[in-house]
Amino acid sequence: MKTLRLLLGDQLNHQHTWFKTVDKNICYVLMEVKQEQEYVTHHIQKIIAFFSAMRNFAHELQNQGHSVIYYKIDDEHNKHSFRENLTEIIAQDSFSNFEYLLPDEYRLDVELTNFCSGLSITSKTVDTEHFYTHREYLHDFFKGKKTFLMESFYRALRKKHNILMDGEEPLTGRWNYDAENRKKYDGKVSVPDAITFKSNQQEIFESIQKMNIPFFGNVEVSKFDWPCSRVEALQVLQYFVKNLLPNFGTYEDALSTQHKDLFHSRLSFALNVKLISPQEVVHAVLLEFENNHTVDIAQAEGFIRQILGWREYMRGVYWAKMPAFSQLNYLDHKEALPTWFWDGKTQMNCLKHCINNSLDNAYAHHIQRLMVIGNFCLLAGIHPDFVDQWYLGVYIDAVEWVEITNTRGMSQFADGGIVGSKPYVSSANYIDKMSDYCAGCKYDKKSRYGPNACPFNSFYWDFHIRHRKKLEKNPRIGMMYRLIDKMTADEITKIRQKAASYKSAINNL
Ligand code: FAD
Ligand code: SF4
Repeated sequence: MKTLRLLLGDQLNHQHTWFKTVDKNICYVLMEVKQEQEYVTHHIQKIIAFFSAMRNFAHELQNQGHSVIYYKIDDEHNKHSFRENLTEIIAQDSFSNFEYLLPDEYRLDVELTNFCSGLSITSKTVDTEHFYTHREYLHDFFKGKKTFLMESFYRALRKKHNILMDGEEPLTGRWNYDAENRKKYDGKVSVPDAITFKSNQQEIFESIQKMNIPFFGNVEVSKFDWPCSRVEALQVLQYFVKNLLPNFGTYEDALSTQHKDLFHSRLSFALNVKLISPQEVVHAVLLEFENNHTVDIAQAEGFIRQILGWREYMRGVYWAKMPAFSQLNYLDHKEALPTWFWDGKTQMNCLKHCINNSLDNAYAHHIQRLMVIGNFCLLAGIHPDFVDQWYLGVYIDAVEWVEITNTRGMSQFADGGIVGSKPYVSSANYIDKMSDYCAGCKYDKKSRYGPNACPFNSFYWDFHIRHRKKLEKNPRIGMMYRLIDKMTADEITKIRQKAASYKSAINNL
């Protein structure tokens, strides 16, 4: 029996059992197709990184003796759709069996299921062997529950995998070190330079241009920085645990004009395309903590929580709630995305830094994504579809299962509280507390109205006032309404007028 096995661009798992033996009756296929470049406009670095990682992976499989069919984006015979390319290959090479790894995206899951139902040959799906949990794990874990509490899910996984545990109890008696992990960056600890690769991606860039693939954002093609092979991914991991992890937790919520990445790992792309596994990452952190004693528990737990907790949790929410999740708009937001999301030309210093960082590097760290960019979108009432499209396009690590749950769920509260128990919103106060952005801004971080009032302030109060019906009963927000009730009618009118005038001129902020 001749078998064709499909590998998608985010299924580059070298350690998969599929690759343990070489079989001349099995052929792997990887494809760069326009279909995947056009459902949303991607950042140029994201397209390059995917193609580069796929090409490297295909070469490594071939070097190991596996048969591989590879479709480059500018190959003449490329029909640019999975269905059409697969149909042609199966017919031409007389394959009698088709297999694929379970896609992580709902869209592709449906497409491949439909494709197989129309095949006249046998077909089969296999797990990607990447995550700690299987697709339905979270759904089953919270069966019958209205809310999905990340903390209980995470603790159960800590116990199940015996990570940072002392029997049934957490090591040191504490599950959580968030209280220690909320420092502003004050420059006292130096930030190591990021590890870079400087690979030349001219050839891929030229073929993207030749094929008129739509893209946005900036790139230096001769000095491409992202890890696109397993060796490079492992180097990023090693660099992180030795140089950045010792301060990761302490400054994980900090924002700085001087250091765009601070102590963040920049591992998300390598993880999401599966060049490295979450288990490898967690074990590398545990090794530093338990054997080498180079990091303390607050740093190790803070990082493991992101991988074992948030990452697995978001994947579980995705499979429990899709496809309905992608339509949710609990707060009925309708505004368009400001034009400066595409060119970074805004006078708000915090957003200028975070958006330009995203456009220049296809990357922003979590607090930039959540408490600056996402915060602004939620306060300004941007339609979650527009927010999703931008996030899905701009970030190097944006794959729908982890993008949409973070954006529509955690950041935009469009799910009405599945992922977060309250909207992640703040006024300038929080941004000023965690960053040095406000000092260099034309807007006044203290004012809610008046000529130069910070838009975050006017929008923040306006947001709570206009969503009173939906938010007031939330016990974590009730206090805001007591503060609003203490405001004079004149103050409320001025705040609302200021918010309305900012909204009508949002492209000029
Ligand atoms: P670090 O800060 O070093 O964290 C380590 C790892 O933990 C990350 O690589 C990631 O794998 C995992 N992680 C941390 N937070 C989360 C989280 N909330 N959800 C899932 N995994 C997490 N992450 C993506 O991988 N793809 C996305 O498209 C994406 N979109 C986001 C959109 C919004 C609005 C927000 C608020 C967050 C988003 N995240 C996304 C989560 C997080 O911001 C990124 O994983 C992180 O910034 C990647 O950088 P890093 O590798 O340096 O992360
Ligand atoms: Fe951002 Fe407002 Fe601070 Fe300016 S004053 S940096 S707009 S929070």
